[in-house]
Amino acid sequence: MTRLESPSSINTYNMCKRKYFYSYKLNLPRKDSISTLTGKTVHDALEGFFNINITGIDKSNYQVILRQQLMNLFNNSWTKALPLLLKLENDKDTIRKFYQDSIYMLQNFIDDYLSTLSTVINGGTFEEAFTKLKPQTEIYLFSEKHKVHGYLDVILEINNEIYIIDYKTSSRDDFTEDYKLQLAIYSLMFNEKFGKMPNKLGLHFLRHGTKKFIDANEELIEKAKKECELIQLNTVSDDINNYDKNPGPWCKWRTGECSFYSQCYGVKKLQDYDEQNLIQLGKN
Ligand code: SF4
Repeated sequence: MTRLESPSSINTYNMCKRKYFYSYKLNLPRKDSISTLTGKTVHDALEGFFNINITGIDKSNYQVILRQQLMNLFNNSWTKALPLLLKLENDKDTIRKFYQDSIYMLQNFIDDYLSTLSTVINGGTFEEAFTKLKPQTEIYLFSEKHKVHGYLDVILEINNEIYIIDYKTSSRDDFTEDYKLQLAIYSLMFNEKFGKMPNKLGLHFLRHGTKKFIDANEELIEKAKKECELIQLNTVSDDINNYDKNPGPWCKWRTGECSFYSQCYGVKKLQDYDEQNLIQLGKN
């Protein structure tokens, strides 16, 4: 049976075929990490932000109230995530650092948002400006033809241009090939669902307060189609031997490890292997 892929499953396959096998063939559960849990609290706060009740907010108080609302939303998400965060093997200082980092990212977001809002609000009301900048959030997209689906963070239509935007909490603000592919696949699905192309594809790097955009074009769509086709062809087999390991920094890092680290390396730690072993491990 053909399975539905996603930008995430395709990028997982491209990074490490063995990880794809454990995640999507065997459906083994993935472990939470402090980065994924705190990233989710930030995403949840941002999703809630555009659905707040704006009664009582006007030009005289919007700067203060919107900041407060966003922080309240974040603190609620954080409180919900805290029991899971405490279960992870991180010390309290590390958890505190991630909390502060998350606050910092949301401050970057709200600074940027308020600056844009202040340029839009001129001559109109707060409500008009807020509505104009209100995006659709957490949109489910699906392509039966290309057997792919996924959730998109933001679709914003402004001045007759459609922007597809994904929030990133990564430590670097590089527009990497896997991010580009993710946005290309969203564009493919968007095009199929709405019968038109988005204009700009963007990443909002919250940690850096930067937004980077590329134009949506046919070349990207063709690349997305090709990758959707390839993943179906490459994942027909159910034999683990057809899914090589790809040892690298994504196996283990300072605050976590790949969910399947113990399946791949048992009790031995990756740093115990020298470079030659790592190359060898990739073949096993
Ligand atoms: S531990 Fe490394 S090699 Fe093993 S599945 Fe995870 S990413 Fe791949």
